[in-house]
Amino acid sequence: MKNRKNAGEKSAPVKQRYKGLSSAAVISSLVSLAFCAFVVSATIIDRTKVNNLSMEQQIFERTHKISETIQKLLYKTEALAALIYLDSVENFDIIAPSIVDDPAIRNILLAPNGIVTKVYPLAGNEGVLGLNFFSEGAGNKEAVMARDLGALVMGGPFNLVQGGKAIVGRLPVYIDTHEDEKKFWGLVSVTLDFPKVLEYAELEVFTTFGYTYELWRINPDTNLRQVIDSGDKIVITESDYFTNYNYLEKPINIFNAEWFLRISPIKKWHQFPENIILIVAGICISVIVFLVMQNNYQLKNMQHVFELMAITDPLTGIFNRRHFLEIVRIGIEKARRLKENCYFIMMDIDRFKLVNDTYGHQIGDKVLMDVSARIKADIRPYDLFARYGGEEFIIYASGITKKEVIDMTERLRLSLCTRKYVYDDISFMSSASFGIALIEDTNLDKAIKQSDEALYTAKRNGRNCVVYFEEELINSEKPEIT
Ligand code: GH3
Ligand code: MG
Ligand code: MG
Repeated sequence: MKNRKNAGEKSAPVKQRYKGLSSAAVISSLVSLAFCAFVVSATIIDRTKVNNLSMEQQIFERTHKISETIQKLLYKTEALAALIYLDSVENFDIIAPSIVDDPAIRNILLAPNGIVTKVYPLAGNEGVLGLNFFSEGAGNKEAVMARDLGALVMGGPFNLVQGGKAIVGRLPVYIDTHEDEKKFWGLVSVTLDFPKVLEYAELEVFTTFGYTYELWRINPDTNLRQVIDSGDKIVITESDYFTNYNYLEKPINIFNAEWFLRISPIKKWHQFPENIILIVAGICISVIVFLVMQNNYQLKNMQHVFELMAITDPLTGIFNRRHFLEIVRIGIEKARRLKENCYFIMMDIDRFKLVNDTYGHQIGDKVLMDVSARIKADIRPYDLFARYGGEEFIIYASGITKKEVIDMTERLRLSLCTRKYVYDDISFMSSASFGIALIEDTNLDKAIKQSDEALYTAKRNGRNCVVYFEEELINSEKPEIT
C-alpha cells in the first residue's frame, strides 16, 4: 500500500533526483545520434556507390580507348615487317610516309640485328641511327623480350636519346632460311610521341567528374611503380596509394606490357557541403530530442514535487492533516471489513509555548522535527502518522487490541520524554500527552473528537501521560488545566 508510507521519508531524495539528467533523454539522444550517423554514412556510401557505378563505366571506356589507340598505332610495325618479308628494304623511304599517318607517331625504324639503320622521318631523329636496341639503356629489356617471345612488345614511356618521351612497339622479324628454319633478322619499331598519344583517350574527363586518375606501371628497368600520367597533376603519393581504400583500378594489357589506370575522388567525404549539412542536421535533431525529453522529465518531476508538497507538512516531512484525513478513510473501511479494531491517537507536546519562549522559535521548530522523527521511528510501518496542526500530531493504528494500543502509545510517550533534546549548547527534556479513541462505526469525526477529549483529560491529569477515551472516565473528573 503505497499511501500508507509516510511521504516525508521519500521527499528529500526525490527532490535531489529532479535536478539531474534524465537517463531516458541521454539514451534517446544517443540513439538518435547513432541513427543519424547511420543515415549519414548510409547516404555517403550510397552516393559513393552510385558515383562508382558511373566511374566504372568511364574507366572501362577510357582503358579501352587507351589500348585501342596504342594498339592501332603499334600495329604499323606489321607494315614495316612486310617490307622485310618482301625483301624491299630499299623501298622504306617510299613506303614510310604512308605509314606515318598520325601526328602521334614520332618515327618508324628498321633495326637489323637490333641496330638502327633506317629511320623516318630522318629530320630530328638523326641521333637514333646506329643505336643498338640490345645494348644497355632504356627499352633494351623490351627489345630482348620481343626477340625471345617472337612477338610485338610495347615499351616505355621512357626518355629518348634525341629528347622527349616516347612509347615504342618492338616487333621481331624472323625470315625463312634455306635450312627450313626461321632466322632472326632484327627489329622493326614504331615510336609514339608521349604524352600526345594519350590525348585520344581523353582522360581529363575524370577530373570533370571530380576524380583524379593515375596511369602507372611497374618499370621493368627499376622494378618500381612508375606514374605514366596523372589527372590535374595530382600525383597519388606512395602512402596514399596503399592506404586509400576509395578507388577504382583496372589493368590495361597492351602487347605484353601491363599498365594500370586508377581513379579516386579528389574530395574527401567531409569536403562535400551536403555531407556536413547532414551531420549538422543529425546533431541538431539529437540535441532537440535531448532537450524535449529532458524538459519533459523536469516537468514530470516538478509535477511530482507539487503533488508531494500538497500532501506533506513542509517542516517535518510527514503527511499533513488534509491528506491524513483523505487516506485514513481507506484504512478504516479496510479495518471494518476485516473486523479489526482501529484507533486514533492524538498527541500534543507539553508546554511547547514555553520551549518557544525560552529557546526561540527556531529551536521550537527543531523540537517539532525531532518529535516527529522519534515517533516515526517507533510506530509500525503501516500505521499512519501526520501533523494535525501546531504542535499536535495524530496517529492511526489498526489491527490491535485496547491493551496493545495503550502499550504502544506508552512506548511512544517514553521515547519522547526519556531522552534529552540537544541543540549545540542547549539541552532540555520535553514530553507529550496522548489521547486514544476507538473508531466505532467508521465515524471519523466522532473518534477524532473523542481522542481530543482523552488528550484534554491527559493534560488535566498533569501531562506526559496516556488516556484512553471512556465515556464515564472523561465525564467524571474535570479539573482545570494549569
Ligand atoms: P500544553 O501543554 O497545554 O499543550 O501547553 P502548550 O504551551 O504546548 O500549548 P499552547 O497551545 O498554549 O501553545 C502551543 C504553541 O505551539 C503556541 C505556538 O506558538 C507553538 N507553535 C505552533 N506551531 C508552531 C510551529 O510550527 N513552530 C513553533 N516553533 N512553534 C509552534
Ligand atoms: Mg496544542
Ligand atoms: Mg501543547
